[in-house]
Amino acid sequence: MARKAGKVIITTIATLGSHCSLQVLKGAKDEGFRTLLISEKKRLGLYKRFGFIDEIIEVDSFSEILGEKCQQRLKKVNAILIPHGTLISQMKSSDIEKIDTPIFGNKWILRWEADRELKEKLMREAGLRTPRAVRSKDDISSLCIVKLHGAAGGRGYYLAWNRESFEEGARQLIEQKAIRGENDLYIQEFIRGVPVYLQYFYSPVTGSLELLGIDRRYESDIDGLGRIPAKEQLSTDVEPSYNVIGNLPLVLRESLLDEVYKMGESFVRAAEHLVPPGMPGPFCLEGVYDSEGRFTTFEFSARIVAGTNLYLDGSPYSGLLYDEPMSMGRRIAREVKIANKKGKLGKVVT
Ligand code: AMP
Repeated sequence: MARKAGKVIITTIATLGSHCSLQVLKGAKDEGFRTLLISEKKRLGLYKRFGFIDEIIEVDSFSEILGEKCQQRLKKVNAILIPHGTLISQMKSSDIEKIDTPIFGNKWILRWEADRELKEKLMREAGLRTPRAVRSKDDISSLCIVKLHGAAGGRGYYLAWNRESFEEGARQLIEQKAIRGENDLYIQEFIRGVPVYLQYFYSPVTGSLELLGIDRRYESDIDGLGRIPAKEQLSTDVEPSYNVIGNLPLVLRESLLDEVYKMGESFVRAAEHLVPPGMPGPFCLEGVYDSEGRFTTFEFSARIVAGTNLYLDGSPYSGLLYDEPMSMGRRIAREVKIANKKGKLGKVVT
């Protein structure tokens, strides 16, 4: 990292070409940073279209980020790496922890996002209402959702209501080579209601939590099943899937917002306690509101989520906090800028 008047400073914001990279680098450019994208060769055509990307490092696979060439270049341009879902889904936690380049946020908490047991532990510590985890297929007594480990964007998830339906789903995933065996699956109580994704940003520099947006996912084909009338659904073998295709904007009833802030604050405190230095930067609580307006958190993401791509020009919530368009990507860059200026990079980088 460069030194200016005795202080370490970041001059380039870098990320992997996927997920929310356009938003992140656009926000970085708007805040006056140089921008760098690590892109797979097959995606170069897309990313070369955008003038706000100053430099592209071409790779055959994202794992090359661990290699000398990438690390040297990132170091030379005083870069910080913004982690997102693609980094988590394509690299092992132990490899992410080995990356030399400073990572925005807490790289140690990414392991807690990828591991179901740790994930549950952190959500419980935060006092969040969570779905019951079903430890054995013999304990399935009501509708359950069966999940794969890691950030798979809902791919491979299926519903089970007894041992047989669990085994049938597992058999299909094994056949597709999506899993090695039933032990790769995680069973959770299915919560009835509407899914909601709460997008937060916590600044350890100012000590404040911001709600910057809310979305819901648009998943195939669960969100398309309503287009098939009941008669046809019953006469064909319809099995829903939860593959994320995009995101839709959402605003909540204002009476729910106070609890939204309290849940976010509890999560930040729990992260500080269990995984120092805690939860600097963007994170998302993901869950379902039931018919009583109660929120059950089924997941969290300990980094920027792709649903923030909706709000490149700000959201109904960021507009309450900022008098300028504030995307999550831009908010990250703003935090780096403030930390640079105050000599507090140590608080936002691991
Ligand atoms: P995820 O990748 O874990 O965020 O989940 C993908 C999708 O699965 C969500 O958007 C929900 O539609 C659904 N989902 C996940 N967990 C649950 C749950 N416990 N109850 C109901 N729906 C769930």
